[in-house]
Amino acid sequence: MFRTRTLPLSKAIRALAVELQDLLAKENRDNLAAQVPSLEIVDRCRCGDDFCAAFYTQPQTHGPYGPSHECIELEPIEGMLILEVIDPAIAYAEILYRNEFGLLCSACCCSLESNAKFPT
Ligand SMILES: [Zn+2]
Repeated sequence: MFRTRTLPLSKAIRALAVELQDLLAKENRDNLAAQVPSLEIVDRCRCGDDFCAAFYTQPQTHGPYGPSHECIELEPIEGMLILEVIDPAIAYAEILYRNEFGLLCSACCCSLESNAKFPT
């Protein structure tokens, strides 16, 4: 399998990994919660919006999602947190209005900037 440089979420944004795991457990999504410690950030969202700290944990798919695609809206204390799950893996985490994660993410993901696999 083709592999690219990735960042472990639990190292890059540890507070978020903890929160995510907690929220998934509350939704009785134990199988997804179990994935959180091993999630890898493969790229961050390139929309450039200040309030957006979304990132990809699977290489981006081109074309429509399959029937196993699921969108899970979690209920964080602050902001918005939506997961795209392409069965069985968490593929994309949309995190909005969480400035602390946005700043952290744009800092930590700089090292992915040179990854030619992801066009901007
Ligand atoms: Zn974005």
